[in-house]
Amino acid sequence: MAQLDVAIVWFRRDLRLYDNPALVAALNSARTVIPLYIWAPEEEGQFQPGRQTRWWSKYSVLYLAQRLEQLGSRLIIRRARESVEGLKAFISETGAEAVFFSHLYDSISMVRDQQVKDDLRSNRILVSSFNADLLYEPWEVLDEQQQPYTTFKAYWDRCLAMPYAPPLPLPEPSGPLPAVPEHYSSLSVQEVDWFFTREQEASTEALTHRWDPAGSAAVARLEAFLEQGLPGFEHDRAKTDRESTTMLSPWIHFGSISVRHIYYRVAQKHAEWQAGGLDKGRSCLDFLQQMGYREYSRYLAFHFPFITERSMLAHLRAVPWRLDQDAFKAWRQGLTGYPLVDAGMRQLWSMGWCHNRVRVVASHFMVKHLLLPWQWGLKHLWDCQIDADLECDALGWQYVSGCLSDAHPFSYMIDMEQEWRRFDPQGHYVRRWLPVLSQLPNEYIHQPWKAPPEVLEEAGVELGFNYPWPIISPDAAREGVALASTVVERCAPSSGSSGSSSGTGYSPLPRKEPYRPPTDPSLMSSFLAASQLEHSAWREKLPPLYIHSATGHPLSLRHSAQQRPMWGPSLPHGGIAANVQHESGFDHMGRFYGLYKGRMGQQQMLLGPAAAAADAKRGMRQGSGSRELSGGTFGAGSGELSYSQVDSESGDNGAAMMEDISSSAAGSLGVGVARRTGSSSSSRMRWWRRTAGGCCLASASSRSSSWVLGLLQAALAALDGLRARAAGGAVGQCRRGAWRRRR
Ligand SMILES: Cc1cc2nc3c(=O)[nH]c(=O)nc-3n(C[C@H](O)[C@H](O)[C@H](O)COP(=O)(O)OP(=O)(O)OC[C@H]3O[C@@H](n4cnc5c(N)ncnc54)[C@H](O)[C@@H]3O)c2cc1C
Repeated sequence: MAQLDVAIVWFRRDLRLYDNPALVAALNSARTVIPLYIWAPEEEGQFQPGRQTRWWSKYSVLYLAQRLEQLGSRLIIRRARESVEGLKAFISETGAEAVFFSHLYDSISMVRDQQVKDDLRSNRILVSSFNADLLYEPWEVLDEQQQPYTTFKAYWDRCLAMPYAPPLPLPEPSGPLPAVPEHYSSLSVQEVDWFFTREQEASTEALTHRWDPAGSAAVARLEAFLEQGLPGFEHDRAKTDRESTTMLSPWIHFGSISVRHIYYRVAQKHAEWQAGGLDKGRSCLDFLQQMGYREYSRYLAFHFPFITERSMLAHLRAVPWRLDQDAFKAWRQGLTGYPLVDAGMRQLWSMGWCHNRVRVVASHFMVKHLLLPWQWGLKHLWDCQIDADLECDALGWQYVSGCLSDAHPFSYMIDMEQEWRRFDPQGHYVRRWLPVLSQLPNEYIHQPWKAPPEVLEEAGVELGFNYPWPIISPDAAREGVALASTVVERCAPSSGSSGSSSGTGYSPLPRKEPYRPPTDPSLMSSFLAASQLEHSAWREKLPPLYIHSATGHPLSLRHSAQQRPMWGPSLPHGGIAANVQHESGFDHMGRFYGLYKGRMGQQQMLLGPAAAAADAKRGMRQGSGSRELSGGTFGAGSGELSYSQVDSESGDNGAAMMEDISSSAAGSLGVGVARRTGSSSSSRMRWWRRTAGGCCLASASSRSSSWVLGLLQAALAALDGLRARAAGGAVGQCRRGAWRRRR
């Protein structure tokens, strides 16, 4: 029985009308129900949507709006910098007495949603949130000590043995929905600035030929899969040379299809087969397990909100990564010389999606063969996947990097040959995505470097010209991982090490176990408080001076801390012994920030939101670092690096962030400032390269705020210190007083 006059249903990633408990609750509570969608990508910080997901957002909102109209309602679309502001403005415009929405589980959303609840409740607005995304809420599935599970098997076994079934999907509201009064203005879908630029929008046109974001298309795809794909899923699911999986991930991410609908359709199909005497139980369970991984990703994100940034296993934070920009670029562009990896990366670029096995192989290659930090890969996939989903992305990377307690140890390496023999033996997949290799015989399609010259010539393959030689040999890759593993193992709990490991200056975090915060589902503060707990241990070591934001407000360091040792020899441009700590969290505005702290000479310094221009100058001019910089200590490998990389947001390509780091490592101090993305990765690159003295400055911001200006000031001050000494405006290297451009 409707008690209220006006209620708002706030749609986010639940863009459907059936199985939407928030919508049903609103319809049951109010006479006028207004569906609202707020486009506020900036508030996602460095994880604002990439190009492909922007395209998907546009069309899935369009279909939602159309469906609402068919039922007599109207989707109000608003643009805001922060959705809380947009929501509050709309509430005061409509006089709404209640807001209903569905849960999200990534840390940015959880913080924001709690803020929404606090704000609105203090204004006596009713706020209710619901589960529309999961079979079970993360706080429902706990071990005997009421703690979260930290292995998938234990978690999923528990889910399958829960004493109550997942909620049944709710039907779409029948009959006409309450009309939305005409005077509430709304942007049309076409009016929203979904993309940064027209060029970016135009570049997504090709996606229309590959994908149909309508929810009805997802249901049709599911039905086809139940008939053709599911029966053989047990054997075929990892085959990359055919359509062996549902490809439903983008619809699932945006909530255009309900996971509970999928779950019950599979269960129904299973029952039908059983009744007909067909045993397809294994295939059904295997498929549900895939859905289980998705559930688990949200489960981990809820209980361990730092999973997008650092390893679940503390000692894995000691991996001596190679910050090799060139290798990273080759990987991104599908130019590693390993056909399966390259085909996967090309498919990803082209359609924003690739098979899970290919994602595993490609990401494993990046982390193990190239020893590049998994966080780089996470950001890159975030930017270019059409199904980019922070929790799933993080789970994937934590898994391949050995950061989970049930993952393979860091020393484990996938056997590339076994992979292609099992999953693409005829090379169909590689031929499709790497046409340049398509004429090679099966025997060499996955290892062109082994083909005799006449075979290569016959197939039109010129290694080093139209297809690269392998970027790294399998032996060199194994050696690299073995070496890195020794470092990691020294920090592992079993080694009993408690002090710093000599040579790296790295002190392992005291915690050795996966971190388990107390769980209190009713309050967000549970994970915040727990994160603070962990953080405080090493935060004490940092000078408090540096913990303030550019706007002068104290940063509330709620989130995470990470120490990242870097190997001098593994840095790409001449070896810098650096002791850099990375810290990230939320500032007082609830924005993500990331800071790098390190030492320059004897001086501990930090540049970033925390760095006033004066600090930066002091650091540059008084610290012995500046002299060393011009004097060449950096190139000699004994100098120390201090840099900051702040809130580098990149909708298109995480490369910008990496460029910053590498530029910093290239022989000087780098300051990266990017408040928002440029139009394309290449324009971002130009920004990063337009630097002086290796000091890397970038700001693609057209929306300057005082915060951005503060950062710019800091960056300019740092530039000032370097400009005089370095010749040229390119990323380069300062060696023994001589400046050399890289490009
Ligand atoms: C490094 C890495 C990054 C990844 N990033 C993402 C991402 O951003 N978004 C994303 O949706 N998936 C991600 N995955 C998981 C997985 O690759 C995709 O979910 C899967 O390939 C989607 O294809 P599908 O819909 O045909 O899957 P199906 O096999 O048909 O499975 C059905 C659904 O189950 C879920 N699912 C399946 N496998 C996984 C898995 N391993 N982890 C989590 N959920 C799973 C997905 O929602 C999927 O749509 C990532 C995996 C790796 C290794």
